Amino acid sequence: MENNQDTLQRFIFESSPVRGNLVHLGLTLQMALNKQNLPSGLRQSLGELMAASALLAATLKMNGSMVLQIQSKGTLKLLVVECTCDDDAPLRMRATAKWSGDIDEQQHLFDLITQGQFIITLDPKDGNQAYQGIVPLEGDSIATILENYMLRSEQIDTRIWLCCDGNTAAGMLLQKLPETMNQTTVEHDADIWNRVGHLANTMQDEELLHLPAETLLTRLFHEEQVRLFAASNTQFFCSCSRDSVASMLRMLGDEELQSILAEQGQIEVNCDFCNTHYAFDKVDATQLLMTPVVAPSQPNIH
Ligand SMILES: [Zn+2]
Repeated sequence: MENNQDTLQRFIFESSPVRGNLVHLGLTLQMALNKQNLPSGLRQSLGELMAASALLAATLKMNGSMVLQIQSKGTLKLLVVECTCDDDAPLRMRATAKWSGDIDEQQHLFDLITQGQFIITLDPKDGNQAYQGIVPLEGDSIATILENYMLRSEQIDTRIWLCCDGNTAAGMLLQKLPETMNQTTVEHDADIWNRVGHLANTMQDEELLHLPAETLLTRLFHEEQVRLFAASNTQFFCSCSRDSVASMLRMLGDEELQSILAEQGQIEVNCDFCNTHYAFDKVDATQLLMTPVVAPSQPNIH
């Protein structure tokens, strides 16, 4: 069943404060990760983080970029996913990982993490202020880390299920909205949040990965009134360019660039996300040094 690949779909439980999202990443995940030589366990974790990012991006309804990072001082250094949302355009995603040393196939992600932090960065493009939240990793899976973050930092009850088999990543999110808008119906069915959470817990990885949204929701919540909205799409996109690499190089300064040139004859940079190779020879580098440095804007840290 491949017709639900690379889609993001919202749903609501009628007359209740519970909403949800479903995501399936096929080609988006393969194009993002196939050019990187990732150990299979990390590929799976990064796939899960991609699915989680798409689910969160869908709840934010923000235009601009959202970056989720897991940073650590252990064997794993970094997992990062960037999503770019732009009105009705497909959700654009890229992802990469950094680690040092060997990673054995059997090792659990959390055995590779020491002093881990979860970092979320929002950079809205409509002039609203950028935001960065940094919290210690709490939980033993990517889903629980995000659930804890949403509860502690945003005070929103959230449940997340994630799964990645290496080629497809899928996820479901349930969120309980603040109960101010529709108090009477909420009182009428006070149990719905717990009930749908229990029902969703019966979901198998295979079902999440491969069933079309409608079939999955009917199977899980057949006694509930669920309304499923039209799907939007996801796609791989890397925003790197020769210009962006050049401005990063300019930040290194004259001395550093000259010393790389003297040593290597040219300056070579590979994009971590898409593995595109950029080379600057002596002539290019001289042009670079004549263009003034523009410092990138720093997000505010809260
Ligand atoms: Zn790139």
